[in-house]
Amino acid sequence: MKKFTADYVLTSNGNSIKNGSVIIDDKGKILKVENPENLSEKPNQETYANLKAEKLSGVICPGFINTHCHLELSHLKEKIPAGEGLIAFIKQVQKNRNADESAVIDAAAKADEEMQQNGIVAVGDISNSAVSVFVKTNSKLYYHNFIEVFGFDPKNADAVFSNALAIQEQFKPMATSITPHAAYSVSKELFKLIRKEAESKNSVLSIHNQESDEENKLYRYKQGSFLDFYDQLGLDISYFKPQARNSLQSVIPILSNKQNVLMVHNTYTNMKDVYFTRRFDRKISWCFCPEANLYIENALPKVDLFTHHGFNITLGTDSLASNKSLCILKEMRILQENFPFLELENLVEWGTINGAKFLGIDREKGSIEEGKTPGLNLISGLDYLKITPETKVRKLA
Ligand SMILES: [Zn+2]
Repeated sequence: MKKFTADYVLTSNGNSIKNGSVIIDDKGKILKVENPENLSEKPNQETYANLKAEKLSGVICPGFINTHCHLELSHLKEKIPAGEGLIAFIKQVQKNRNADESAVIDAAAKADEEMQQNGIVAVGDISNSAVSVFVKTNSKLYYHNFIEVFGFDPKNADAVFSNALAIQEQFKPMATSITPHAAYSVSKELFKLIRKEAESKNSVLSIHNQESDEENKLYRYKQGSFLDFYDQLGLDISYFKPQARNSLQSVIPILSNKQNVLMVHNTYTNMKDVYFTRRFDRKISWCFCPEANLYIENALPKVDLFTHHGFNITLGTDSLASNKSLCILKEMRILQENFPFLELENLVEWGTINGAKFLGIDREKGSIEEGKTPGLNLISGLDYLKITPETKVRKLA
């Protein structure tokens, strides 16, 4: 048993406990959360006789949930130039992703270890192949595997979908769902197959959303750089008609209100899009990956559009192809620097309980509550509860 006391305990279930303590057993299960203001809750010395107590400077919070990563792209770290925009980035990924399998697995194992060190306990991970199965099976982290499909040509929908089913088999018994890559890479026909499967299995979906404004140009006017991109791929998109509205507004009606859907990036999502999702009564969560947005497009989402609607907001690192590290605290730091109105308590909720709720693992993870095993992090080097360049995370349990 161990007892950690810190300046604050942010529980992610609505409590911010000054000089609070958390007592855990050897497996990291929370036995007790103490608030010194509540004197009757002081620990009984006999019950906690073997307790190792540690007094820490900083804030204790639950283990982080990274809701967007691509472990299988970890070998592309520092291989793709920054700031060239999404389409150039996608081309580079396509060009470089097929490397020697052992190099891919080694890089994935290192990335998995890095996430553990940075206090991440669970990951929503995009997989286009089964190459990461070995690393994930042997990992201490919880993985939800999004088996992601591409296929903008409606003729290929059935073949692409059966291929995804075969990949999914290899990930069992881990949590999986077949998921669409993005509005610009998945045909309506393929979307419908995914929706049918998701409804029958009650599974969650994750979609790269409005990561580039080119995606909106394609959907609104059938213009922009995606047309050249399809041309280079030899893809005939004569069937595709401009929709006179942004991609998100075209995709939402294809989904049903039965699935929880994670919209990832949202860099070019506008207020109209946000209101559109509310009107359609869909179960949308929004995931921000600000480091990757800066790396690829040198832009950030309009975070303030999302914070006043009671939305479930989560955080992700994206892959090492578009990020120097896999660290949720660093994502929080970018958001804090650019949106100073954000409170640490909210950022911690985004990086913990909200991700756990989306992945359906909140009975066990995401908040500091008796009986849960959420992992514990210490955030230190804060300036009056604001994240600064000096702020660090240390995994406590
Ligand atoms: Zn991604």
